[in-house]
Amino acid sequence: MKMTSKFQAEEDYFQEESNLTDWRPKKRLGQNFLIDIAMAMNVASAIDLKGLKILEIGAGSGQITQYLCEYAKKGKVTALEIDKQLVEELKKKFGKNKNLLIKDTDALKFDFNGYDAIFGNLPYYISTPILFKILESDCKSAVLMVQEEFGKRLVATKGDSDFSRLTVSIQSVFQTEIIDYVPAESFDPAPKVASVVVKLLRKPENQQVKINSKLLRMAFCHKNKTLLNSLLSSRKELKKNREEIRNIAQKHLSEWKDVKIRQLSLEDWSNISKKYPLTS
Ligand code: SAH
Repeated sequence: MKMTSKFQAEEDYFQEESNLTDWRPKKRLGQNFLIDIAMAMNVASAIDLKGLKILEIGAGSGQITQYLCEYAKKGKVTALEIDKQLVEELKKKFGKNKNLLIKDTDALKFDFNGYDAIFGNLPYYISTPILFKILESDCKSAVLMVQEEFGKRLVATKGDSDFSRLTVSIQSVFQTEIIDYVPAESFDPAPKVASVVVKLLRKPENQQVKINSKLLRMAFCHKNKTLLNSLLSSRKELKKNREEIRNIAQKHLSEWKDVKIRQLSLEDWSNISKKYPLTS
């Protein structure tokens, strides 16, 4: 018995040692840590956090987390981190912090409902699904550090090359704004591209628009086609033949049928969604 526990203790010791010495940032988890403290403070102060329930995605070693906790005062911060080694580090560093809950969790499997604000220096590989999860949640705001090209998609307007399905979906619910540019050298290891900080604020109910998400998804598979041609190309998924689609376009969508998908604005999509007959 004694021997086993001694070996166990030794193993634990070496395990801990090796955690420190073998530590390498994991590229596949998008581990680019923010080393610019002023930027971490900027991100955390982008909205008034006092008393809020905050969710942080991918806390890393807590660069942003510490300011979220500080600025939230009596609010609560829940920090998600998928990398167990980092979770241990976070617990050591912030274990005594009363307004922080550290969760060893995959953000993609976590329920985002019930938080006022969502923060994160997002790994690129999960940026799109995270944005769609934010969209489906009841959060009022989000401040996200993302790759520049991704951030541009969130703030694009019709006609921009970055204008996408994600743009329309997010802007149907949130007001979006780039509030900071973050050079690659602000991270360790430095990624290949620059990042931006994007702020999302939920629009008042009467300014939000309902979009037919199925129609939107199909249309953006052919974003350089006109609305009519993109619907014709999606006829299988729409379960309609050419004739039926032409009739719908003529009868309900004549205003937009000859406009290219990437030239349709958020308002156009709202109107198209209202007028596209769901049952015919
Ligand atoms: N917030 C820190 C770390 C950013 S790097 C900073 O700004 O420095 C991105 C972090 O997200 C990494 O720590 C990575 O391990 C974590 N991560 C990656 N995929 C994740 C997932 N699916 N769920 C939760 N965390 C994830």
